[in-house]
Amino acid sequence: MSNFDINQFKIILEPFYKAQSTEVELYTAAYNLGLPVMIKGPTGCGKSRFIEYMAYKLDKPIITVSCNEDITASDLIGRFLLDTNGTRWVDGPLTLAARHGAICYLDEIVEARQDTMVVIHSLTDHRRELMLDKKGELVKAHSDFQLVISYNPAYQSLMKDLKQSTKQRFTGMDFDYVSAELETSIVVRESGVGGDIATKLVKLAQVTRNLVGHGIDEGASTRLLNYAGTLIASGVGVKDACNMALVCPITDDVEIRTTMGSAIDAIF
Ligand code: ADP
Repeated sequence: MSNFDINQFKIILEPFYKAQSTEVELYTAAYNLGLPVMIKGPTGCGKSRFIEYMAYKLDKPIITVSCNEDITASDLIGRFLLDTNGTRWVDGPLTLAARHGAICYLDEIVEARQDTMVVIHSLTDHRRELMLDKKGELVKAHSDFQLVISYNPAYQSLMKDLKQSTKQRFTGMDFDYVSAELETSIVVRESGVGGDIATKLVKLAQVTRNLVGHGIDEGASTRLLNYAGTLIASGVGVKDACNMALVCPITDDVEIRTTMGSAIDAIF
């Protein structure tokens, strides 16, 4: 592990990111103070893109973990592995980030079981340390280490939410879909579709977002708009592309699909 190079986790090319408000300044302040950050917002609204952009701007490595309910504390911390020479300790992503100084981004943290997340506690308070019980080592976090989590409030339920004792270790930033104008320019840039089509795709997304709570759990994300735009730019018909990217993934409800079909006809 001695020749391990954390710089392999640096982002080489500047990610395309358009600021919505003062998030760049606020995040920079939190990073410089070593404060953990929770990014809240609906799926596909730009949370991960923002963190990648910030890692690039701050010139820090970033290690991302997509959380799911099968993730264990060992998956984050590390474990002994058996090889031909016997057993060997292998740091998990959280330990790597803490030891060598990287931003550790736990994406969709509510997907993980609450008891798993208790392992981050000692890293997110004044201690800034991580106990590797099995190895008998206490890792003091590197000064460049920062913990960032993303959190989708729509998925929140009593069964699936962070404990207050976890939540209250983070500063928070609210994210939402960007303004229509900004979203249009993002779709143009990311998918290569023309401005007129992108404007209409954004209008359609707004229809789905207004249906939240009326048969739809979450509206179409900017990511899905990019998919639709990419399909259209490659020559797929507009309506097929909208159905494939914006209707099919978000609802199976026949009535909602009919409503969205009418919206597609009206907008295009
Ligand atoms: P999530 O919130 O689920 O982490 P992502 O960060 O993956 O979402 O964003 C999904 C897509 O939205 C990105 O691929 C990007 O094209 C687009 N996007 C959203 N907001 C912005 C923004 N402010 N600047 C640039 N792209 C954005």
